[in-house]
Amino acid sequence: MKILVAVKRAIDYNVKARPKSDGSGVDLANVKMSMNPFDEIAVEEAIRLQEAGKAGEIVAVSVGPAACQETLRTAMAMGADRGILVQTDDEVQPLGVAKLLKAIVDKEQPGLVILGKQAIDDDSNQTGQMLAGLLGWGQGTFAAKVELGDGTASVKREVDGGIQTLTLKLPLVVTADLRLNEPRYVKLPNIMKAKKKPLDTVTPADLGVDIAPRIKLVKVSEPPARAGGVKVADVNELVAKLRNEAKVI
Ligand code: AMP
Repeated sequence: MKILVAVKRAIDYNVKARPKSDGSGVDLANVKMSMNPFDEIAVEEAIRLQEAGKAGEIVAVSVGPAACQETLRTAMAMGADRGILVQTDDEVQPLGVAKLLKAIVDKEQPGLVILGKQAIDDDSNQTGQMLAGLLGWGQGTFAAKVELGDGTASVKREVDGGIQTLTLKLPLVVTADLRLNEPRYVKLPNIMKAKKKPLDTVTPADLGVDIAPRIKLVKVSEPPARAGGVKVADVNELVAKLRNEAKVI
């Protein structure tokens, strides 16, 4: 069974995102970009399923500018067998990505698609759900454990206050949560090997998909600065402040 994994090139999780001075978006000039952390978990899960003999080829897909080739090479250095870049310099919103992924799924016919639960740049948490909807497939979102059976998968989901276990029919869309696994480090020889793995490039037009944005970004701004704390001399002062100033007791 083939597995398709969606990998997004996003602002590196160590970088503090700052709005552009005109509030029109996040300032990405000279900012380090990396694979979205949840997508690393998605790639790792696909590799573990392959290593366990439960999956065949792993195909990584990225949507975005030519620089997304780096993200695909990272996925291939981790262990993905080949990559597909859907190349565009236009902004692509989650519905557009889901439509493009559907077109690739129609062509590649994987039995499982694994995405991250959310991209840390737009925090949308929509693409996997929309893809499952467009395909008419089941979805195991916020996955903390995935076990493949015969024509089905058992997915443990992180839900508020606990874990929900679902049995779902394949083919299936899964979105990876933080505790699904710990992604492996990429070793240098594998980076070299990944350079030789196949990487195809297509455009949204090749796939016949309209990616025109449906959502208008109005403004990006910093959260309000936190007020500084104060030191209290003793418990009596603390209680007085909680009662008279914070009014919480
Ligand atoms: P989002 O719905 O934007 O929070 O993204 C959820 C997941 O969809 C990500 O973790 C990726 O796996 C996938 N995804 C979103 N945008 C892209 C993209 N441009 N290229 C590849 N995968 C993407």
